[in-house]
Amino acid sequence: MVFILKSGLSEATIKAFSESFERQGFSTIISKGTEHTAVCLIGNTASVDMDKIVATSGVVEYARRVTEQYKAVNRTVHPDDTIIKVGEAEIGPDTFTVISGPCSIESEEQIVEVAKSVKASGAKLLRGGAFKPRSSPYSFQGLGEDGLRMLSTAKKETGLPIVSEIMNQTQAPLFEDVDIVQIGARNMQNFDLLKEVGQMGKPVLLKRGLSNTIEELLMSAEYIMSSGNSRVILCERGIRTFETMTRNTLDISSVIVLKQKSHLPVIVDPSHASGIRSFVAPLSKASLAVGADGLMVETHNDPAKALCDGAQSLDLKQFDELMKELKRRAPLENRKI
Ligand code: PEP
Ligand code: MN
Repeated sequence: MVFILKSGLSEATIKAFSESFERQGFSTIISKGTEHTAVCLIGNTASVDMDKIVATSGVVEYARRVTEQYKAVNRTVHPDDTIIKVGEAEIGPDTFTVISGPCSIESEEQIVEVAKSVKASGAKLLRGGAFKPRSSPYSFQGLGEDGLRMLSTAKKETGLPIVSEIMNQTQAPLFEDVDIVQIGARNMQNFDLLKEVGQMGKPVLLKRGLSNTIEELLMSAEYIMSSGNSRVILCERGIRTFETMTRNTLDISSVIVLKQKSHLPVIVDPSHASGIRSFVAPLSKASLAVGADGLMVETHNDPAKALCDGAQSLDLKQFDELMKELKRRAPLENRKI
């Protein structure tokens, strides 16, 4: 059950209202929007007389039952879209924010060259994998801590905030300079890791698992939010289906569902979704058209020599062309890019 409170209430009034339910044995989530604050009750609310509380409390604008298991991520609990600010970048309903960079950080020269170029083209954040979840133990595993240092150098040289994947809890201290911590598809249901990033105090980019439903993605976001971190960005990156012509199947409808069910920003990763370079631009345009809040696109200064995911990586010129195309289209969707 969620109570959407009247606007302009003091912190003390909101706290007193929420504590009145905690005394009855409920947990509460207080969710602050731009206009309204919501108080959501967790527990068996069957015996709570919702209408009476609306009529008598004096602080409630309206109330709803929340039937879904996910509460904090639920749009019913938080009707306004969440906007996540990272440095100069903003991820949310008015913008179309592009994150770009190589699959893996391979050297300082490589990451700095890519960073400068994607920034000039209009990317607002730089990605780069230092810890790589590879299907084969014999494939390049990433440069680890050294890679993160190189990524920090690229951040210093360009001013771009950085995004990198964490693979387990012990790596958390290494991510101090990382602006957005990525949870990869293969870790979407690593619940201990979700709880850990819930406490890291920085935005989390949560990718949909290879074989996970939209509801499971929302429940994983709920783990992060219920651990104390409300800055979660959801990422559709394609799911595994019977289709073999593409690396994964981009579930473009998931963007619509996620935006309907949740207030969190949603971005699309067309690179892992398709695995094919020439598909990246059309899928990017589709993502903009369907209402995504941005993209994560893999780029490389020399894709043919990439140590990971070269076949799906745009070269720097192709990325620049894509950004030009997106800049032409974004205003038609009321998005700043
Ligand atoms: C990545 O973004 O580097 C990555 C490994 O993607 P995913 O987890 O979606 O496979
Ligand atoms: Mn990759």
